Amino acid sequence: MTDSPKTNLLGMTRQQLEGFFTAMGEKPFRAVQVLKWIHQHWVEDFQDMTDLSKALRERLAQVAEIRAPEVVYDQASADGTHKWLLRLDDGNCIETVFIPEKDRGTLCVSSQVGCALDCTFCSTARQGFNRNLSSAEIVGQLWLANRRLAPERSVAGKAPERVVSNVVLMGMGEPLLNFDNVVDAMRLMLDDNAYGLSKRRVTLSTSGIVPAMDRLKETLDVALAVSLHAPNDALRDKLVPINRKYPIAELLDACRRYVREERHHQRITFEYVMLEGVNDSPEHARQLIALLRDVPCKINLIPFNPFPETRYRRSGDAAIRRFQEMLANAGYTTITRRTRGDDIDAACGQLVGKVADRSRRALRFARLEGTGGTAP
Ligand code: SAH
Repeated sequence: MTDSPKTNLLGMTRQQLEGFFTAMGEKPFRAVQVLKWIHQHWVEDFQDMTDLSKALRERLAQVAEIRAPEVVYDQASADGTHKWLLRLDDGNCIETVFIPEKDRGTLCVSSQVGCALDCTFCSTARQGFNRNLSSAEIVGQLWLANRRLAPERSVAGKAPERVVSNVVLMGMGEPLLNFDNVVDAMRLMLDDNAYGLSKRRVTLSTSGIVPAMDRLKETLDVALAVSLHAPNDALRDKLVPINRKYPIAELLDACRRYVREERHHQRITFEYVMLEGVNDSPEHARQLIALLRDVPCKINLIPFNPFPETRYRRSGDAAIRRFQEMLANAGYTTITRRTRGDDIDAACGQLVGKVADRSRRALRFARLEGTGGTAP
């Protein structure tokens, strides 16, 4: 939002919009009207907001805008998965992935350009950290996905009410290191006047920024996923280096605090990437079983998604099955995340990784090497 003097309304929470209208000398209830136009009808032109007076629409057009990132590349997989490469105002690119399933549509949203954490198995880490996304850039991913998918997924010419039913903050970046903007964006996801998603259907995934987990608990009620990936500190120090600052015992204490509150009667989801010969042995499973005994949780096993020049390999199917069985036999709800969109590099960070995070290179890639993707 660099050289534009206009205020971008896309990332404003209801409360912020009320402040905006009050400052204009308008009634605060305009906020709800405008929220609905933006987030339920995905309108970007004030002229389309037909329950506002013509004079107000014109004033708004002069001082404000509704501005989402620009779609550079839209790659659709045979299984219905979409992956978008989005360009921000400063030329940086991020990724958003849509994963349709029988009973839901999940959008995987990015929270930062690059990432400051150096998890050794993650392709985003290799880009280093560039900057935080604004709340408009975060919620803009949801706005764009709905806007683009509604026609495609309509039945008999009627757009489904909600194309995206679930949001996971599992794209690029560490959401808890961009706390305020992520919280504003999630407020819009939960607001009945905006996306109206239930708190169980908005999941924040963190590598374990302990103080921010406590702050989140005080701020907003959403589901929490924690990237554990190892059952002991020696191994987790290597895979998820932030563990040296917030070791497993402190992390699990924060998890227990998060679910203990009355309003958080849900469970923590632990994510565990399956890396061949690294963290996938029966001994690792036994350690994990003992470690999580008194944390209300479920466990998601994620088969490693390889990327060029990685030193890791995905665990074999048999190893994954054995690991899952051991956890299940010990009483843990355990699922193995199915890999989706393999043909389009849907694993987070991979498309940007392939084209480098420079928009010109991204554009060239989109134009010259498009493999089934469509121009915006
Ligand atoms: N920074 C947040 C969100 C990251 S992405 C976090 O750490 O939770 C969401 C999940 O994908 C995390 O559990 C992350 O560790 C995992 N992940 C990253 N790279 C992966 C890869 N190449 N294969 C499988 N999972 C990966």
